[in-house]
Amino acid sequence: MDGVTRTDRQSEAAGAGGASGYLTIDLAALARNYERLCAEVAPARAAAVVKADAYGLGAARVAERLYAHGCRDFFVAQFVEALALRPLLAADATVFVLNGLQPGNEFPAARDGIVPVINSLEQWRQWADAARMLARRLPAVLQFDTGMSRLGVPPEERAALAELVKSEGGIDILFVMSHLASADDADSDQNAGQLAEMERVTADFPQFLVCFANSGGVFLGKTYHGVLARPGIALYGGAPTAGRANPMEPVVRLDIAVVQTRTVPAGTRIGYSGTHVTTGSTRLATIAAGYADGMLRSLSDRGAVFCDGVRLPIVGRVSMDSITIDVSALPEGRLKLGSLVEVLGSHQTLEDVARDAGTIAYEILTSLGHRYERQYR
Ligand SMILES: *Cc1c(COP(=O)(O)O)cnc(C)c1O
Repeated sequence: MDGVTRTDRQSEAAGAGGASGYLTIDLAALARNYERLCAEVAPARAAAVVKADAYGLGAARVAERLYAHGCRDFFVAQFVEALALRPLLAADATVFVLNGLQPGNEFPAARDGIVPVINSLEQWRQWADAARMLARRLPAVLQFDTGMSRLGVPPEERAALAELVKSEGGIDILFVMSHLASADDADSDQNAGQLAEMERVTADFPQFLVCFANSGGVFLGKTYHGVLARPGIALYGGAPTAGRANPMEPVVRLDIAVVQTRTVPAGTRIGYSGTHVTTGSTRLATIAAGYADGMLRSLSDRGAVFCDGVRLPIVGRVSMDSITIDVSALPEGRLKLGSLVEVLGSHQTLEDVARDAGTIAYEILTSLGHRYERQYR
């Protein structure tokens, strides 16, 4: 779809849900992205990272669709997300919790068959204690820190963990894993450094399968794939590698409705604090989304929206519920109450908006607000 008005659909949609922004999520494109990633890592398999509500797109819909395309491994970050997702998936799917479990969550996790990632000796002991108390074996993934210093057992504790793995029988280790800090930068020497450290991990734990690559890692080559890759952003259309052509299909489209238009003379101040002052007669439109909807305030006086392929700059501050745009480049009368402008679509990618906002595509997606009408295609 291009940037033309969709008046019929829009009035229908407005009548149905009352929204003034429309978030379209293309599940077929999501599935094609999954298949593209599967092909890239074959014969390894691809999991789906669906943390933070599938990067804002809806974990239930995303996971259901990917399950239908053969995905059986789903990673969330927090246990609360696993509790919500687990009942929606068939028994042959596995839900992994990247952060592992907080004390007290072991029994609900064991009950629901949720698999924690064990990041520390403390988390190992907690899970091993639960296995002992339940008098049954419990599954887990072991994460190692290979150079990010965020999560995972650090190199100096590997020997102690190896001892625990040997002496405690209660935990079934499904994979050893680690996470790349710079996988989106194919030229970063941190990638090879982490790969070398991961090879030392697998030398210490040769009996276990390896889970390593995120989206960027998938495109770093075979040596990064292990047996199970963990892509997130690439599924949702984000670029896995910075500065390279994006091999993924866009999944998200976002259109926002116009609330009001006006023409103002030169010297008019626009928005909070009057940060933008017009230099000539200017036609303006105010659209119905703001920072409360995930249109980040850092887009103030920087970002743009599109209509008919024409770039319409954001002028003045982004407000909580609205943004003013300069529409002088469009024919007069082109935009009116209820017309739609494109924030994400064929003229503006996630990466474009992220760049203008001074952030990354991940933050744009996970900030997408809840006042939009969501349409799954
Ligand atoms: C978020 C995350 C991923 C997915 O990363 P993408 O860059 O979105 O592909 C994979 N593994 C871990 C540990 C993560 O935290």
